[in-house]
Amino acid sequence: MGVDVTRLTSRDLKRTNRSRLLNLLYFNAPTSRFELSQLSDLSPATVTKIIGELIDEQIVIETGVEDSQGGRPRTTLIINPEYGYFIGVDVGETHIYVELFDIRLHSLSYVKYTLSPEENHPEDVTRYIVQGVRALLSALNIPDEKVLGVGIGVPGMVDRSGGVSIFAPNWGWQNIALQDLLRRDLKLPILLDNGAQAMALAEMWFGAGAGGGLVDLVVLLIGTGIGAGVIADGKLYRGASNSAGEWGHTCIELDGRDCRCGSHGCIEAYAGAPAIIQRIRELDPDSPILASGVQIEIIRALQAAAGAGEALATQVLNEVAHTLGAGIANLINLFNPQLIVLGGWSGAVIGETILPQLQQVVRRYALPQPLSAAKIALSQLGWDAVSIGAASLALEQFLMGESPRKPVEVA
Ligand SMILES: [Zn+2]
Repeated sequence: MGVDVTRLTSRDLKRTNRSRLLNLLYFNAPTSRFELSQLSDLSPATVTKIIGELIDEQIVIETGVEDSQGGRPRTTLIINPEYGYFIGVDVGETHIYVELFDIRLHSLSYVKYTLSPEENHPEDVTRYIVQGVRALLSALNIPDEKVLGVGIGVPGMVDRSGGVSIFAPNWGWQNIALQDLLRRDLKLPILLDNGAQAMALAEMWFGAGAGGGLVDLVVLLIGTGIGAGVIADGKLYRGASNSAGEWGHTCIELDGRDCRCGSHGCIEAYAGAPAIIQRIRELDPDSPILASGVQIEIIRALQAAAGAGEALATQVLNEVAHTLGAGIANLINLFNPQLIVLGGWSGAVIGETILPQLQQVVRRYALPQPLSAAKIALSQLGWDAVSIGAASLALEQFLMGESPRKPVEVA
């Protein structure tokens, strides 16, 4: 028996139309059926039919009427703010944040866990995620059925379809079926992806790219590891097997320092937090900057010392700016983006200090034409950029028109 191509096509078309209307409703609300028809190029009859279905499923609600310049007043529509919730999880190398969002991705509550260096086993990570999700839902009395999706951003390479962490070199993870492990304890729709890619989506929708119509951007996650999310023409560029954006492991120095990925001379081996700390130690093993022994505290102390004009700190940050600047120039030449966003926890600490030096280096190495089109900005999303991004993955799925919940059965 063959596949019924006609039926498949019409079902796909219906889903595409539904998705188009959901996107317009989400980003242009409140709006009316008339406006939706104009913005979507769908016929008024098609819009009315799909909106009728969305209202029956309680995804869309009518909120009032608006004047139509002399014509009949039009009913305004929005996505039902109480339809459901999203959860975003940021799995970092030193922390796990679990954050609960309403349907507009406003943060309602969060929990933070600090990981000790030995807590990098999949069982530790899944235990914290489950514990966090359970704590948030019970604190706000939200039943599981109201959760539209749990997005999880993890370091390294991810097979999205199977929810598998394929390779997270810093933890020695290979082919860990994280989604299956989580499903033992969480009966919720789970989406796994790389943290930098998730963050890029959030920057486009809610951060530096929001409202400005920016559709070509590269978002850099600078922390313990270094990654990037590439948005091309308004969509995440994932590549053939979802690993596009491994910018931290592009070579900046031939036969350079050993990198945790197994290669040599990667950007991460010079500008990731452990590499920065190693460099301070090389220059002065007794530097007071190293006193705390805690990664984030050392980077903060480095930034403060550079701000006070301390020579070693200034030299180290200049070197970091040099490495990142050359890497960013490569990105500008490769992708011709409108915007490069510096994000990640370490990016947030040192970003403002290194930006002027970084921009000089970029000007030195990038081609003039793409350089003139590209701005470099600091992330505006704050500490929870990756969890907002992870929740955005679930939102993206929701806006594709595939509701993870079944419509209410009417007898
Ligand atoms: Zn590497």
